[in-house]
Amino acid sequence: MLLKDTELLDSKFRPYSTDIRLSAGKVCELGSLSPWANEEVIEADNCVVIPGLNDHHAHLVSYAASLNSVKCGPPEVSSIEDLIITLNQVPGSDWLRGIGFHESLCANIDRVWLDQHGPKRPVRIQHRSGRLWVLNSLGLELIRERADALTGHERRRLSETSGRLYDVDELISNLTRAEPPPLMTASQKLASFGVTGVNDMTPANDPASLTWFSELQDENKLLQKVMMSGRPELSECRFSDTLSLGSTKVHLHDYDLPDFPDFVDLIKKSHRQSRTVAVHCVTEVALVFTLSAMRAAGCSKDNRIEHASVIPPELIRQLQELELAVVTQPNFVHEKGDTYLKEVPVSEHDYLYRCRSLIDENVPLAFGTDLPFGKPNPWSAMRAATDRQTGGGNVLNSAECITPEQALTGFLGALESPFEARQVSIGADADLCLLDAPWHEVRMDLDARHVKLTIIGGEVVYFRD
Ligand SMILES: [Zn+2]
Repeated sequence: MLLKDTELLDSKFRPYSTDIRLSAGKVCELGSLSPWANEEVIEADNCVVIPGLNDHHAHLVSYAASLNSVKCGPPEVSSIEDLIITLNQVPGSDWLRGIGFHESLCANIDRVWLDQHGPKRPVRIQHRSGRLWVLNSLGLELIRERADALTGHERRRLSETSGRLYDVDELISNLTRAEPPPLMTASQKLASFGVTGVNDMTPANDPASLTWFSELQDENKLLQKVMMSGRPELSECRFSDTLSLGSTKVHLHDYDLPDFPDFVDLIKKSHRQSRTVAVHCVTEVALVFTLSAMRAAGCSKDNRIEHASVIPPELIRQLQELELAVVTQPNFVHEKGDTYLKEVPVSEHDYLYRCRSLIDENVPLAFGTDLPFGKPNPWSAMRAATDRQTGGGNVLNSAECITPEQALTGFLGALESPFEARQVSIGADADLCLLDAPWHEVRMDLDARHVKLTIIGGEVVYFRD
């Protein structure tokens, strides 16, 4: 395939004109090129071609499932009355799956509330954080009927009579999976944003998830290249060119932190297997705990802090000393910023979802959307990184604004080295995204509607007419 008259950006984001030839899944020639006989030619009209975007923190299966789910929180549903109407108007008699609930609608929905106000069918509603599921009585009955095969510990986690179940995402999706979620639709949506690779950060990813992803890729139902992070036992699996091994994922909760020595051992063990550790840190407590463990393990380099939602100034230096990297979500500034401005003490607003101060202190930084807990569109994340605008039009922490080039860089790193922008160069994978304008225009208007064509492994996977 020949891409005629493209604009490429060099390592300093200076534009230059060239044609691009793709062959065998790679970029094979740059320069002024004439079409071969029967070669497919795409005219780029001097618009910019960038390396395909990599979402460095995502949850593909939950995202696919979310496409079959009802929104149960703001902005779609903004009052408890709306929620009741929404729940009762979905047709069907099997599972009703709701997502995005937030306690601003009503503090304590539980089994009894759902029985009273929801439809007479099994219902489960997920809190926006992803951690809490609330089930009605019919739903609880159904999962308990199927829970025979579970261990005693797993059964206990499902035994809460209030119907409010924490951290049972994987258990519930295994017990309720009547049919697999529409991964193909999810994958095509991501392709329309120019996403060609994803690091799936689901803590429960295990050898069975790997097998499933690999089958989906073989069947062309999962277009993106995937790096799979997750459980320690993934280290023993066999991976491929399109499905690679990611970090050991550790999910920390302030109220239930792991045993410190066990955590340190896990870091050391991962390191011995040449595998990095990625730690979910959305609070200062979790971050301090993680920094101490990294220090104790003595092998922190290249390990990842996921989210790093709250970083007091004195901890930036520690991140840098320990050579830790941060993968964060600037999209949350836009999506949740107004809630932060209301609920987080003013003195801590400057600590939230930092970007610029990390770059300035040479802490390696990359972005992921955390889809579906964040919106899946990397362009919105880039925009929020540059203007720090909340959905309500406020500005959160303007000192953390970065340039469009820095924002783009957050999604340009390779899955295996997220912190350095890839280039469109000879020999590089033909994972590309053609936009509909030159970079000097797009940089002023970071928006997914500029994506015109997405190519993965030399194949066109998305084309906008
Ligand atoms: Zn996540």
